[in-house]
Amino acid sequence: MNLSPGNTKSYLHAALQNERLRVAVDKATQTALKKRQDKVDQIPVWEEMRWQAHAAKRDALEHLAENLETFEKNCQTNGIIVHWARDGEEARQIILRLMLEKNVKQVVKSKSLTTEELHLNHFLQDNGIETLETDLGEYIVQLLDQIPSHLTAPALHLTRVDVGKIFHEKLGVPYTEDPHELLQIARARLRQKFLAAEMGISGVNFAFADSGSFCVVENEANAFLTVSLPRIHLAVMGLEKLLPDQSGLGTFLKLLPISATGQKASSYVNFIGGPRRQRCGEGPEEVHVLILDNGRSRILADSQLRETLFCIRCGACLNVCPIYQQVGGHAYGWVYMGPIGITLIPQYLGSLEGRYAPFVSSLCGACHEICPVHINIPHHLLKLRHRIVDAGLSMKVEKWGIRGWAFLAKRPRLYRFVTWFPGKFQQLLPKETAFPAPGYFKKRALGRFDHTGFRNRYRTWRKKIISKG
Ligand code: SF4
Repeated sequence: MNLSPGNTKSYLHAALQNERLRVAVDKATQTALKKRQDKVDQIPVWEEMRWQAHAAKRDALEHLAENLETFEKNCQTNGIIVHWARDGEEARQIILRLMLEKNVKQVVKSKSLTTEELHLNHFLQDNGIETLETDLGEYIVQLLDQIPSHLTAPALHLTRVDVGKIFHEKLGVPYTEDPHELLQIARARLRQKFLAAEMGISGVNFAFADSGSFCVVENEANAFLTVSLPRIHLAVMGLEKLLPDQSGLGTFLKLLPISATGQKASSYVNFIGGPRRQRCGEGPEEVHVLILDNGRSRILADSQLRETLFCIRCGACLNVCPIYQQVGGHAYGWVYMGPIGITLIPQYLGSLEGRYAPFVSSLCGACHEICPVHINIPHHLLKLRHRIVDAGLSMKVEKWGIRGWAFLAKRPRLYRFVTWFPGKFQQLLPKETAFPAPGYFKKRALGRFDHTGFRNRYRTWRKKIISKG
């Protein structure tokens, strides 16, 4: 699936026509939000925890350079081999070289957005290495050659009827839409692959400088098997995932599952602190960590937008976003989607490629309210919009709209007439008819204008206040 954020407008139009998609996304996001709220209501210190997590991320990023050095040193002490990649191409070449050296032909992967950033599956398959996603949602979207449509629920855009059909067509099994049977089908196939794979690849949720270790949070035990069964393990980690130590981990491990799926706790938290030790005889013989920059240090150096690196990829801002709820994740054209995605797209891919992304928001602020690490997403979107306008990359319709408004705003009489006119014109229309507006409003009602007008309302309100004394 080849998507590009530069084509966001056409993806948004297509998604809005897709009624099935809208129903599936709406149902899934509303369920997640309700479950989350139920749990949040049981935690009186939820707000304090959000601020604690915010402070922990801020401090970790302030000392990132020294923490990374400590992490590398302690990983090496633990027998973990550390690789550094400046960008996606370097990361892919390091991974491929490692696989060729170790004669790796089959790979199992657990869910990792950082590897999606690298388009790793396609790259490895083009180089003759069989790569299989083992998270159920990822497995389903891989069968369709799609990318995930949500940060934590990759197949959120599909219903179980869709999944039944996909398994029937792609795997040749009898059609069923029973979730338990579908799970058994996927499980039987994945088990064989876990046993055959020479390498497991995972992402990293949190890494710890002081102990040279990291953890992978999950619900299906597929990451556990990915980490422990193949003889080599490779973890691909964005450098912002590093914490100085595990002191704040308890807070993150509460905030993350509640925000993501409304669970009190994740089912599995896998800690990896090195290869198999002789005395316990379990786990991989070799552990590698690839630390990926790919634009992150540029974001880190940007004091205005650095906060966007605090994200713990819980997906709550997607669930609550009125735009994501209508269009799902593929409409954004990249691996990071929804409110946090549209802050990351122009930062990772550049202003030209990401010029539409920061505008795919109503700036309602719901994402900021829900974010477990208190990222002020609307504030960052405004900054990014300014930069795109300053670079001369804003949409023509917007440029002309603003120019038109500026023209009117400098001519109060004309302004009054133009804003008075729609209200009066509307009085000529039948009562239930929405104001006729083309284009943008094809898919939504503009509503009716209030012909009283702001000035008249203000005068009435003022008179009332004065008469009350
Ligand atoms: S920005 Fe906040 S709410 Fe959105 S995915 Fe990241 S941590 Fe979760």
